[in-house]
Amino acid sequence: MKNEMENDIKKVLYSEEAIKARLVELGEELSRDYAGKNPLVLCVLKGASIFISDIVRHMSVALEMDFMAVSSYEGTSSTGEVKIVKDLGASVEGRDILIVEDIVDTGLTLSYLVGQLQNRKPASLNICALLLKKKTDPSTQRKVDVKYYGFECPDEFVVGYGLDFNERYRNLPYIGVLKEEMYS
Ligand code: 5GP
Repeated sequence: MKNEMENDIKKVLYSEEAIKARLVELGEELSRDYAGKNPLVLCVLKGASIFISDIVRHMSVALEMDFMAVSSYEGTSSTGEVKIVKDLGASVEGRDILIVEDIVDTGLTLSYLVGQLQNRKPASLNICALLLKKKTDPSTQRKVDVKYYGFECPDEFVVGYGLDFNERYRNLPYIGVLKEEMYS
């Protein structure tokens, strides 16, 4: 059956197959790096929810999961404000933390979160993002280091595989660029 959201998508950037293949590679890398560490894998809701549920199943190590929610963006433009909307249940002190995020653009959202979590004294803290937005202007420095990522994507507004526009398109099985007329 044809996906009823398909007409809203200008182009597909990463197909279901491409995502699956990348998950295998990324899972192997993470499994090597986190062997024997029982990491606490943190999901930043809601965008990373689909990515985390797939990536943890490609990690062949014992791990724990927890969920956080922050808010920073409304629609397609930044409000410049980052708030913790839902905090963690688990303690971070002495743990190896892996933050799983959907997409890192300026890094503003994550730099705030990383700062908050560093105060809680983890043993290590790294970021795994599904997408890293390619910066056309080299003078705009990203505010966080992203050690692991799925794809470096073009500087366009993307949806699907967890990423939304006004809460829609998260359930698209691929990642695509939304047609401008959908938000203009
Ligand atoms: P940053 O703080 O790194 O500039 O932006 C990160 C957050 O902005 C992401 O977690 C995501 O919620 C949102 N965001 C940034 N770019 C996009 C995009 O192209 N598509 C969607 N759906 N969300 C985006």
